[in-house]
Amino acid sequence: MRNLFQGRRRFGFTLVELLTVIVIIAVIASLTLPAIIGARRKANWTQCQSNLHQLSLAWMDYRYQNRDDTPDWLSSLYPEYCSSALVYVCPGDRLEGRIDGSKPQDLVDNGSEAFNSTDDNWGNNGIPACSYFYEMCNTNCEYVGGVRTWKEQKIIELQGKDRTRFPVIRCFHHWKDRRYEVRWPGAVTNRMEGMTINVAYDGNILFSCENWKATIVRVH
Ligand SMILES: [Zn+2]
Repeated sequence: MRNLFQGRRRFGFTLVELLTVIVIIAVIASLTLPAIIGARRKANWTQCQSNLHQLSLAWMDYRYQNRDDTPDWLSSLYPEYCSSALVYVCPGDRLEGRIDGSKPQDLVDNGSEAFNSTDDNWGNNGIPACSYFYEMCNTNCEYVGGVRTWKEQKIIELQGKDRTRFPVIRCFHHWKDRRYEVRWPGAVTNRMEGMTINVAYDGNILFSCENWKATIVRVH
């Protein structure tokens, strides 16, 4: 008697075949994903640097036109000194500048201060969004207890410092791209910090760890 199942054509995959395909796809994905993420990070980095370069030109121009006074807000540069509102948004900022506080939420969750009052959206002069942290904004400085504005505090801190190493406009959205092992004066142990891209007081682009006053022990 002919077996009913003999000669019957199979349709679809067996479980083993399906698992094999899944494993192959997973291996291919694991090989290509880091390269894709790396390429995207590099592109974001390049675009952010371009944004900061444009803001630095506007910042230096503002000071030149205003007897070396600094703008109260980053948005004060728009549109007279910086004609595009797009340069205020870092492509690495997943919330596209629509946050309270100029630090990415995952960094704030990591224990960093949000410094919400420094958010340029609060002192908005017409820009829809801002990803960057402005160190010299005209609002009460929380980390000195509000006795001075950030601008007044930074003018004090600037005295005797190398102005090419003094960050004024900062991007925290690349902090996972590179890590620094840093040491604070008097600290017993080193700790890890993320990297930032900055415009320094003298207008140059400056890479630094999150807490720029700390000493870098090693770059990871
Ligand atoms: Zn950025």
